[in-house]
Amino acid sequence: MRGLRSPWRAYAVLGGLVALVVQVFPQGPVHDGLFVVLSCGAPVATAVGARLHRPQRASAWWLLAAGLAAWALGDVSYWLCWWVLDLRGFPAPPDAFYVLAYPLLAAALLRLARQARPDRDVEGSIDAAILVVGCGLLSWTFLIAPTLAGFGADPAGAAVSLAYPLGDIVVLGALVRVFAAAGHRSAAFRLLAGAAVVMLVADSFYQYATSFGSYDGSGFDWLWQVSYVLWGCAALHPSMRRLSDPAPTSGSTEFSAGRLLVLTGASLLAPATLALQLLLGQTPQGWAVVAGSTVLFLLVVLRMHALVRRVRAQAVLLEDLARTDPLTGLLNRRSADAELRRLRDRAELDGTDLVVALLDLDRFKVYNDTHGHPAGDRLLVGAATAWRTALAGTGAALARWGGEEFAVLAAGLPPAAVVDLLADLRAVVPAGQSFSAGLAVWDGVETPDALLARADTALYAAKHAGRACTRTADRGAGSVHPTA
Ligand code: GH3
Ligand code: MG
Ligand code: MG
Repeated sequence: MRGLRSPWRAYAVLGGLVALVVQVFPQGPVHDGLFVVLSCGAPVATAVGARLHRPQRASAWWLLAAGLAAWALGDVSYWLCWWVLDLRGFPAPPDAFYVLAYPLLAAALLRLARQARPDRDVEGSIDAAILVVGCGLLSWTFLIAPTLAGFGADPAGAAVSLAYPLGDIVVLGALVRVFAAAGHRSAAFRLLAGAAVVMLVADSFYQYATSFGSYDGSGFDWLWQVSYVLWGCAALHPSMRRLSDPAPTSGSTEFSAGRLLVLTGASLLAPATLALQLLLGQTPQGWAVVAGSTVLFLLVVLRMHALVRRVRAQAVLLEDLARTDPLTGLLNRRSADAELRRLRDRAELDGTDLVVALLDLDRFKVYNDTHGHPAGDRLLVGAATAWRTALAGTGAALARWGGEEFAVLAAGLPPAAVVDLLADLRAVVPAGQSFSAGLAVWDGVETPDALLARADTALYAAKHAGRACTRTADRGAGSVHPTA
C-alpha cells in the first residue's frame, strides 16, 4: 500500500470507501450523517493541501476551502434541521450556507485563472461569455422558468431556488476561465475541473428532477460525494502547486480545434433549446431564445473581430521581422533587394537618377580578433545607428547587405550628392574605423543585378586601392574610376 502514503491517494481511497458505505444505508440520519462527514472532509483536505504544498499564491486555495466549508456547513445544518430540529421547510437555514458557497467557489476559480493568465485575456473572456450565455439559456428554459412558475405566490422560495441555478452559471463561467487560462493540464487541474463539472451536473439533475413532480432528488447524492472527494484530491495532489503558474502560452490564446468545437456547440444551444422544447411538446420560451440567440450572435461576431485583430497584428509583426535585420534593425538584404527593384522601375518611369553604393568595413576581421566578436557586433550597431541618423531626411535608404557590408540606395539624388553623403558617413564611423565603398549609377537600361555587380566591382577596386576610399563604376564598362 505504498500509494496510500501519498496524501491525495489516501484521501481518494478513504473518501471512495465512505461514499460506498453511504450508499449501503437507506435515506436516514446515518446516510445523511456519513454524507456530512464527506462534505466536511473536502474543506479540511483543501486546507491541508494548501498548508502541505504551500503554493506560491495560496489565496485561491483558501477561497476554495472557504467555499467548500460553506457547503459543508450547509450539509451540517441540513442534517440538524432535518433529523434533530424537524425543520423540513424550504427555504431553510442551510440554504443560506449553500448559496454562499457559489460565489466563494467562483471567486476561487477566477483567482486561479487570473494567476495563470495575468493579462487581460479578451478572447478567453468572450469564449467564457459564449458558453455561459448558451448554458444560461438552457438553464433558464429547463430549470429557472419552470421553478419560478412552481413558486407562484412564494417570492422567498422562488428567490432562493433561483439562486442555485444562477450560482451554477457563475461557477460554470469561472470554470471556463480556468480552462481557457491554465496552460498545463496537470493532475490537479483535471481533478479540480472534474470536481466542478460533477458538482454542476449534480446540481442541474437535482434541480430538474425536483422542479418536476415530488421527487426528492436523493438519487443524485453520490454525484456530490464524488465532487467532494475530487475537490479534496485536487488540493492534496502535489501538482496543485503548478496549477496557478502563468501559462506557457501566456499572452496568446490558442484557437484549438477543441475550443472551436466547444464554442460551436455553445452557440448552437439556442436553436437546440428551441428544438428540444418543440420535441418535448412544451410551449417554447420564445423570448428567451430570441434574447439568447441575439446575444450569442453578437458574441460570436465580437470573437471574430478579436481573432481578425490578432491575426492582423501578427501579420504586421511577421512582416516587420521578415523585413529587418535583427542585429541593427536596418532593412535586410531581401527587402533592400525588393526596394532596389521598385526604385529601378520608378526611375525608369520618372527618368530620375538611381545610385547604389556598397559599403564594407575595413579590416573588420582584425577588429573582431582584437576586441572580440561582441565588440564587433556593437560596432556594427553603432555604425548602423550613426549612418541612419546621417542619412535621415536625405531620401536615401540604408540596408545591411550582409556581415559587415551595407548598401545605400539613393533614388532622385544626383551622383555627386551621394558622394557627399558617403563622405558624411565616413566622418561618423565609430571607434576610428573606416570603410571602403563602391558606387554605381544606373545606366537607364541595366537590371538591378547588373547595377549591383558594377557597384561590387567598384568596391573591390576601392579595397585594392588601399581601403578607406570610394570608387565609382564607369557606365556600362567593367572599369571604375576614383571618386573624390
Ligand atoms: P576587408 O578590409 O578586406 O574587408 O577585411 P575584413 O576583415 O573586413 O573582411 P573579411 O571579409 O575577411 O571579414 C569580414 C569579417 O566580418 C569576418 C567576420 O567575422 C566579420 N563579421 C561578419 N558578420 C559579423 C557580425 O555579425 N558580427 C561580427 N562581430 N562580425 C561579423
Ligand atoms: Mg566583407
Ligand atoms: Mg570588410
